[in-house]
Amino acid sequence: MPAKKPKYIFVTGGVLSGLGKGITAASIANVLKERGLKVNMQKFDQYINVDAGTLNPAEHGEVFVTDDGAEADLDLGHYERFLNQNLTTNSSIMTGKIYQSLIARERRGEYLGKTVQVIPHVTEEVKDRTRIAATMDDFDVHIVEIGGTVGDDEGFHFIEAARQMRLNEGKDNVLYVHVVFLPYLKASDEVKTKPAQNSVRDLRSIGIQPDVLIARTDHDVKDGLVEKLSLYTNVEPAAIMLLPTVPSVYQVPLMMESAHLHQVIADRLGLKLQDRQPAWTKLVAKIQTSKPHLTIGLVGKYTTMLDTYASVVEALKAACWQADVDLNLRWLDSEQLESQDPDAYLQGLSGIVVPGGFGTRGIEGKILAIKHARENKIPYLGLCLGMQLAVVEFARHVAGIKQATSQELDEEIILKNNGPAQRSSSADERSWVIHIMADQKTITDKGGTMRLGGWDCILAEDSFSYKAYGKKSIRERHRHRYEFNNDFREQLQNAGLIIAGTTPDGNLVEIVEVKDHPWFVGVQYHAEFTSRPITGHPLFNDLIKAAKAY
Ligand code: GLN
Repeated sequence: MPAKKPKYIFVTGGVLSGLGKGITAASIANVLKERGLKVNMQKFDQYINVDAGTLNPAEHGEVFVTDDGAEADLDLGHYERFLNQNLTTNSSIMTGKIYQSLIARERRGEYLGKTVQVIPHVTEEVKDRTRIAATMDDFDVHIVEIGGTVGDDEGFHFIEAARQMRLNEGKDNVLYVHVVFLPYLKASDEVKTKPAQNSVRDLRSIGIQPDVLIARTDHDVKDGLVEKLSLYTNVEPAAIMLLPTVPSVYQVPLMMESAHLHQVIADRLGLKLQDRQPAWTKLVAKIQTSKPHLTIGLVGKYTTMLDTYASVVEALKAACWQADVDLNLRWLDSEQLESQDPDAYLQGLSGIVVPGGFGTRGIEGKILAIKHARENKIPYLGLCLGMQLAVVEFARHVAGIKQATSQELDEEIILKNNGPAQRSSSADERSWVIHIMADQKTITDKGGTMRLGGWDCILAEDSFSYKAYGKKSIRERHRHRYEFNNDFREQLQNAGLIIAGTTPDGNLVEIVEVKDHPWFVGVQYHAEFTSRPITGHPLFNDLIKAAKAY
């Protein structure tokens, strides 16, 4: 157990959701880490789900996967990118997980006949989880973002636990940051502070006086507004920061520093800060320089929803910055594509990406896009489902396996026949070049039952992938049920498909590539989760290089 006692920063939100509380928390983490402190982060979500694995990405945003296999809220992706650091299962806690362990303990009789209650049992569990995450390494600071907004009944146990933490850990070791929104009223041409005041009052009614107030606003504010907020919220003016919406979220840490927020936090918690590392400042300067645009098509069944493919979009942007271009992202609707002329619909693209996905909707449109990329020699990156469909497309149109498909696409047939182990006669006629793993055939639960988290992969020399990574052994994160079907490996290889990466035992195909093409790579894993803003990701970087050359 590390001897160091970590400092805790709790980040809450008020007035409305979608304020960018995650970016704010991640930016505080960035500011402290880039000034020499060792920082960890954690997100509490009030949903009764056990994890984010079963949540619909169209409603809740992408499911982010950590190296140790947590299916987490997309905010963890922001944290990893801003912290430039891998997080763990301990960093993502939903109410369902808390209750799951309490109920298991209750069933084992561990409460010795006592009633199990929100206070103290749920709150103790929340505090335990906080301390476990904070002390799993010798962290100086542990930042906890509490999901939802203050005043939500569902989030009470987290806020109450945060309140108790100052009592338990000492007042110099715990800091509260509250993020609010200042709405603009056109009639009086004014930015209003009342909802923010009320939100701080709600927080105080639970016993938390915020130390730092971050006020998000989309409008210019009049002089004296900070003083007014200070008067009504009891937060010192120096600890109130106005945070306007900016073109790039990566600017936020530097804005915090211009507002001297790092100093306020450090003084309050007794932390020593060094000078900022220059890499982030350089990154922001690069983002802000004007650069030529590069058009990349992202083919999905959910279009224009940035949150749904958050990490893919951030990985593309980061790779573009490496290549001194700006990303012009074109959202391509895979369902629409099915009824259009692909040549016309996909015109003007310098690169095509098919990201991960589940289910049968829009699949044939994605296959059309992949065929278009392969035949027209447009740089292509397939991620998870995008790799599986690249195999299907290659099998159908190059290897002559006309009925090639993924077992997932026969889902309806499979369901009718009561489970994946059963194959109907019509499904038998199809060739499942992508199929369910043998040891997963009997699994019926949807949560936590996929190949999840980091897996090692060995690359074939003389491949696009080896060239990109510059090493033979890599590790990338997975989240999928289906796999490349080894029964077809030889046939597809003979037709020219390159198996560029496998698990170390050679059993699971991780990367496929196509020769005689400027750049065509499909990966069974989600390369986007390990992309970082400062370095980009090897595969995304090389995709963008090839797209720039195209
Ligand atoms: N639906 C596919 C599978 O389960 C791909 C999943 C994904 O793209 N994440 O294997």
